[in-house]
Amino acid sequence: MFSKKFNLSSYTTIKVGGVAEYFAEPQSIDEFSYLIEWANLNNQKYQIIGAGSNLLINNIFIKGLVVCTKKMKSLTIDPYSGIVEAEAGVMLPTLSSSLAKNGLQGGEWAIGIPGTLGGAIYMNAGTGNLSLAKNLISVKVINNKTHEKLEIEKKDINFEYRFSSFQSNNLAIISAKLHFEPNGNLEQLIQTTKNNLKLKTETQPYHFPSFGSVFKNPKNHYAAKLIDDLGLKGFKIGGAEISNIHSNFIINTSSASSKDIYELITVIQQKVLQKKGIYLQPEVRMVGFDYPD
Ligand SMILES: Cc1cc2nc3c(=O)[nH]c(=O)nc-3n(C[C@H](O)[C@H](O)[C@H](O)COP(=O)(O)OP(=O)(O)OC[C@H]3O[C@@H](n4cnc5c(N)ncnc54)[C@H](O)[C@@H]3O)c2cc1C
Repeated sequence: MFSKKFNLSSYTTIKVGGVAEYFAEPQSIDEFSYLIEWANLNNQKYQIIGAGSNLLINNIFIKGLVVCTKKMKSLTIDPYSGIVEAEAGVMLPTLSSSLAKNGLQGGEWAIGIPGTLGGAIYMNAGTGNLSLAKNLISVKVINNKTHEKLEIEKKDINFEYRFSSFQSNNLAIISAKLHFEPNGNLEQLIQTTKNNLKLKTETQPYHFPSFGSVFKNPKNHYAAKLIDDLGLKGFKIGGAEISNIHSNFIINTSSASSKDIYELITVIQQKVLQKKGIYLQPEVRMVGFDYPD
């Protein structure tokens, strides 16, 4: 069911990663559940990844089990009621275009985000003030310690800017139930979705490996502007470069190491703190580093 000594670099969008002692891609909730149980019974650490689009994994030996949810991708859409049931590994662009094709309104913004549904709920991913939290009814999870399956209603989940309570509890997201507005204008929805994707590809460095916005926007500031003001666009450490198109993106221009990227993150933080007095908190999640959460 799992591979040993598995290289994770092709499982992150920035194309950097370490070697997992054990690696698995469950195709069903039962398989996922079994893996969690296996890790506990065998006293192995375990780490979930989705599409790896918000992850910096250190290029070291990662002890324990890494589980990738990308193959858990069942998606059921009822175009009449607007009720959607999706497994954790459904990709946001698939969800977004499927919603539009079924005349469901409210997911057009998600087209250009290369993450899974599970990752998007965990990160509370979004654009502007839009995120899946708005459409969520409930989330099914497995408790990583007790292996118990639970369904949590939206009212019991705390969502803030790029934060959900899943970041501070011990639950694996397996699926979610959502509601989108039915009976939308099909042509218009498809066009809006296409336009949103076009806008993203024009304003973000889509054609280079990256992990999206590196830092959260501090209150009343834009991280990209703070970095831009210091003239850091194009600044490089090894193969890691601050994008010329969007300064809150780090791109992997040519075989960057996780160390190059980590160092670049630290240099940006130091410079912005020195010159502007503002601490930039990473949005990107770090695996295998001693970075404080
Ligand atoms: C080009 C590009 C554009 C982007 N644009 C945006 C944007 O507009 N808005 C935005 O918010 N983000 C954006 N991102 C960042 C990223 O796509 C989102 O944060 C996304 O939701 C992460 O999902 P993922 O499946 O890739 O998660 P991963 O990166 O694989 O994991 C992120 C975190 O979620 C946890 N996790 C993942 N799945 C589960 C699960 N099933 N259960 C429990 N924990 C889980 C992981 O352990 C990890 O801590 C962008 C990234 C890229 C590369």
